[in-house]
Amino acid sequence: MFISLVANSCISFTGIYFIAKVLNYHTNHQLAKNMVVGVLAGGLGIFLITQGVLYDEVVKIDFRYLALILLGFYRLISPLFIAATIISIYRFSFGLNIQSIVACIAIFLIAGGIVMMYKITSLEKKLLFFGMVLNLWACLIATLAIVTNGGFTLNAFQIALLVASISFPVGMLITVLNIDVFLINQRVKEYKISAETDHLTGLANRRAWEVQMKKFKERSSICNVLMIDIDHFKQINDRYGHSNGDEILKQFAQLLHRETRDHDIKARIGGEEFGILIPMLSHLEIMNVAERIRNSISKHEFKLLDHRVIHISVSIGIANGKSENLHEMIHLADDSLYQAKNSGRNCTYINETVV
Ligand code: GH3
Ligand code: MG
Ligand code: MG
Repeated sequence: MFISLVANSCISFTGIYFIAKVLNYHTNHQLAKNMVVGVLAGGLGIFLITQGVLYDEVVKIDFRYLALILLGFYRLISPLFIAATIISIYRFSFGLNIQSIVACIAIFLIAGGIVMMYKITSLEKKLLFFGMVLNLWACLIATLAIVTNGGFTLNAFQIALLVASISFPVGMLITVLNIDVFLINQRVKEYKISAETDHLTGLANRRAWEVQMKKFKERSSICNVLMIDIDHFKQINDRYGHSNGDEILKQFAQLLHRETRDHDIKARIGGEEFGILIPMLSHLEIMNVAERIRNSISKHEFKLLDHRVIHISVSIGIANGKSENLHEMIHLADDSLYQAKNSGRNCTYINETVV
């Protein structure tokens, strides 16, 4: 029987690793992912029930609740209850009796208790402690269910003890695996953000700008590419020093953030040159937006490190056209910027692609 339980542990391990992979898969369809994860965890619970080990003629031991621990660890409430419901329905398919009711209550108590525990600890901290508390709770409820269904006999206590002595270490091993997967994914996310961010301004860097442009090219829609270059920035560096130049660039990026919408793609694509991709605005609308940005920059009081105030201006080149011709548009926006600089700076120039 011990070997069979170890085999069950291996099934749990493999299943949970697979679900954790799905769970960490990045998608914009969060609802669909939650459903899939809930169904997979419920399926794993059912599979573990079918692989349960006969202790005697009546009692079968299984690790069905281990799938819930994973969802508990990631604080996924809806998948947790989807999985608990699937496991309960399957358990009822053996017959509506007092044992199946106890088993169903136990599964929902485990799920409910896990949700309550979210309030006690945060996911970012004390991961091992959180995992241990989840496991202890699940073990306690599973033990109580076995003892209740076993009629509070010595035999029932022995079975419950056996289940707990195997499932708790297995649950803890699964927790360690989860922590590992969680931390790896968190690091990957951090490195990805770091690789795509301009560290001075916090805006997207040139690499991210090019990636976003490529993605945008695939959608067929009207869009605008804005190239913004600070006028005579070299003089700011020469007059006030490079650190002050950096400080101005930071404040400039904050201003760009305030003046654009969240879904406009903003990037620092060169030293003091910035790009913005703004979807769905007509020629007239984008001219208004660009002029608003240019005006607010020229009026803004930029503060040097010693709190002195300076004013700067920008030249803006725009290309307005269809996203399929994005390469041509970038070229045109550069061309517009060149014309804005040649027209005396602190102005906006627009070019349109032939649609
Ligand atoms: P124009 O109006 O023609 O754009 O003149 P400009 O002086 O802004 O243009 P130019 O290309 O001659 O100079 C850009 C300056 O930007 C030169 C460079 O030292 C400065 N610069 C580029 N990157 C940084 C940076 O990260 N920090 C600071 N402080 N300065 C930078
Ligand atoms: Mg410049
Ligand atoms: Mg420049």
